[in-house]
Amino acid sequence: MARAGGAVLVVVVVRRACASIAAGALLLVWLAALTGRALPVVALPRSAAVGKVIVVDPGHGGIDPGSHNGEGTMEKEIVLEIARDICYLLARARAVPILTRHGDWEMSPIIEHETTRHRRDLAARIHIAHRTNADAFVSVHVNKVRSASTRGAIVFYSRNNPESKRLATCIHSVIQDVAPHQGMSVLEGDYYVLNAAKVPAVIVEVGFISHPEEKELLLAPSYRGQLAEAIFGGLVLFFEGSGVTPERKAPSPGGSREPSL
Ligand SMILES: [Zn+2]
Repeated sequence: MARAGGAVLVVVVVRRACASIAAGALLLVWLAALTGRALPVVALPRSAAVGKVIVVDPGHGGIDPGSHNGEGTMEKEIVLEIARDICYLLARARAVPILTRHGDWEMSPIIEHETTRHRRDLAARIHIAHRTNADAFVSVHVNKVRSASTRGAIVFYSRNNPESKRLATCIHSVIQDVAPHQGMSVLEGDYYVLNAAKVPAVIVEVGFISHPEEKELLLAPSYRGQLAEAIFGGLVLFFEGSGVTPERKAPSPGGSREPSL
């Protein structure tokens, strides 16, 4: 229960951070400490993300490692680092990032009404977005398929509202330059958090742990930083009102519509 309490504390702390510039500055210091980044020495230009509440969800955690290669490389650790970087960039842009988990734990203790631990874990993540009336929900994942040649980012969107698809296309329009995928890259997703979402919601599969070269990239902090900056850039485009129509590409034989959530 202590773990769930920690997650709730994050929400409370972040919401209170909206109340004052001083509290917001403390949040930025906290995120800088988490990500190991240096604090900015000059203020950034005002962006469309100012004041927007964005729930950033690193998938999995605790007993659920997500995708892994059997050699100690686990999705739950990679996505936590990327999510922290996204939150840092959002806080620096004076948005209000909410990290669903900031350590290696699952979220199921927050929720009681679902039938299984896995469903409670997923329900808790979107519950945080609803409780905070988030402007966007972004869940970060790493993919895995049998083919060792499939690589690149895929963005899944909630069918519940057109804003989710627009958010997906905005993020894809930036992340495709970092992690191009040779198949359909923006797809409607039939997944718990997306089906339950009442706010603009996407799942970003940032790459494939089953692709040897991409796995090595995903382990590099500099590459994870590029992915975080791409997702952040896509969020800014979304709040600026961009509506990018995704390119429709022929599906690749090894491509996957099934992220390893
Ligand atoms: Zn996953």
